[in-house]
Amino acid sequence: MPKGNCALCHEFKELELSHIVPKFVIRYLKKTSFGAIRNMDNPNRIVQDGEKHYMLCGACEDLFSAYETKFANKFFYPYMIDSKKEFNYDQETYYFITSVSWRSLYLDILDFVKNHDAYGVDMNTLDNLIKKEKCMREYLLKKNSEIDGVENHIFFFDDLLDVEKSNAELRPHATFHRGIIIYTFFNKQLNSQATITNMMGIILFTLYSKGPEEYWENTEIHNGNGRIEARNQIVQSVCGNELTEILDLAKQKLDNISENQMSKIVDKVKADPDNFAKSKAYEDLMKDLNLDQS
Ligand SMILES: [Zn+2]
Repeated sequence: MPKGNCALCHEFKELELSHIVPKFVIRYLKKTSFGAIRNMDNPNRIVQDGEKHYMLCGACEDLFSAYETKFANKFFYPYMIDSKKEFNYDQETYYFITSVSWRSLYLDILDFVKNHDAYGVDMNTLDNLIKKEKCMREYLLKKNSEIDGVENHIFFFDDLLDVEKSNAELRPHATFHRGIIIYTFFNKQLNSQATITNMMGIILFTLYSKGPEEYWENTEIHNGNGRIEARNQIVQSVCGNELTEILDLAKQKLDNISENQMSKIVDKVKADPDNFAKSKAYEDLMKDLNLDQS
């Protein structure tokens, strides 16, 4: 294992290869995929590799992984397997969301600094992101019990949303339910900054700056006890638009799949149609096709 400074505790130690999106999500996506059809599920390369970086020492990895396991058992599997819609959350849920967003924010800041022209990042945005990263790091290390000026939200990509009705051709079910993506975005004009993580339809948002246009309903996870439901949720403005951006991006990637790849996928399905009909990929494909007709 390579040595370096751990991104969280800053100690010079052996670094582990960390997943940016928690590995239980990547494992579940692979487990519920139909062999090589994964290419069609979501052609985004990040998904298949489950982007990894040497960034945390063993102790910090272990710290995060305890919260991941709890979230997986309390939220992720019950939502995916039993279609559970109501959840009680607590401070550990807040910690988990913070830890996931922080990992991306840390790497995204490095990327923004290196390529600021390409991203069009201004100094005010960068300053705020760096400030928030520091506060989140201290909270994650348990030096502080609160994070100033940061909000965590969970948005469940469930049935019958405006975004999906108006974008049937973008295959919203297949994109969100069969996809994994994480990144930090910002809008200078509307003064919003956030990290978004799609974990197969459970979408985490951490806001570092909340512009006046942002409107959220039934999505916030406070740093304490509460209840959240996968229904009647609203996300608008910059963060809401980001959901449409993800659909557009997935559509572009799908359009770019070569004919050769496509015929391999078709052959796979033809060779084992019964198994394909039972797969989650098929279920989402049918939901999207039904949207087209309604
Ligand atoms: Zn560490």
